[in-house]
Amino acid sequence: MSVIVYVDSFSGSIAKNGFEAVNYASKLGDVIAVTAGNASDDVLAALGKYGAKKVLKDTSVTSNDPQQLTRLIAKAVEANGATTVVVSHDLNGKAIAPRLSARLKAGLVAGAISLPDGDKVKVNVFSGKAFGFVTVKSDKKIISLLPNSMKPVAEGSDCAVEAFDGEAGNTGYIIKATKKPEGAIPLPEAELVVSGGRGLKGPENWGIIEDLANVLGAATACSRPVADIGWRPHHEHVGQTGVAIRPNLYIAAGISGAIQHLAGVNGSKVIVVINTDPEAPFFKAADYGIVGDAFEVLPRLTEAVKKF
Ligand code: FAD
Repeated sequence: MSVIVYVDSFSGSIAKNGFEAVNYASKLGDVIAVTAGNASDDVLAALGKYGAKKVLKDTSVTSNDPQQLTRLIAKAVEANGATTVVVSHDLNGKAIAPRLSARLKAGLVAGAISLPDGDKVKVNVFSGKAFGFVTVKSDKKIISLLPNSMKPVAEGSDCAVEAFDGEAGNTGYIIKATKKPEGAIPLPEAELVVSGGRGLKGPENWGIIEDLANVLGAATACSRPVADIGWRPHHEHVGQTGVAIRPNLYIAAGISGAIQHLAGVNGSKVIVVINTDPEAPFFKAADYGIVGDAFEVLPRLTEAVKKF
């Protein structure tokens, strides 16, 4: 059985969640990875190591337009007689999966965290506070896999990369790409994350977050209001309406711990909370809590880490 996996490669490389989706799908059938853009064949062939039998590459789609990508993936499904599509449950995947579900009349499992058990797939529900099981009875199914649900393992060898015309056409959408700072650790892939909230009082104070992140080799993140006010870029905003992350360590300073914030971070293995208010809700979700002023605690943590 063929399984189509959409893999984002517009940056010229493949993110960890792309390998993860392919690896996951390889447990369901013969994986045909579909991608768009101009990533080199050498980069794409590496998907074979994670279980792809081949990669179909459409160079005519040049941006993350979810409508074009939906058409491309649907065409690949049709051309290969596939019954299952796997995408990563990231910002692109969340835009593509429901469109694909409607187009293919396929059942949708959004935010899967395990392999299907028969027709049933385990998902996160209530912003990660509980698990649910979704049963798909339709012939075709779409699964969006929550990033960091499984560790991708490279076992095979490179696979073939073939040109593919997904007949994606032009949708009239204009997608603007913003360049991320060079060398920054991509948030969805980060094992360690240092994050700041409104308690940091202003963008001029972010140095203490960045200093700790630098000595730890961590990515930086923020709460939604911080991005909304423009203190930090939107791609750093984590939570229900931002990026969902599952790092090994999440350090939150000056963040109250509203449920919408927790929704994006409560999959973290260890959560450390720094807050002046001992009643801050975040302490309930924390593995380690420091009741204290972020302006004193963060520099002391940075100095302590430097000594190791
Ligand atoms: P605040 O709530 O203002 O908390 C600041 C915290 O800093 C307080 O706990 C305070 O005690 C502490 N503090 C103050 N000074 C210091 C100091 N010197 N040192 C240490 N601590 C200090 N939010 C998200 O983050 N992500 C989302 O995806 C998201 N999605 C949302 C979706 C919807 C539909 C809605 C309605 C809301 C959403 N929100 C989201 C907003 C969310 O409800 C909260 O308002 C937001 O998370 C609060 O941000 P904050 O903790 O930075 O600010």
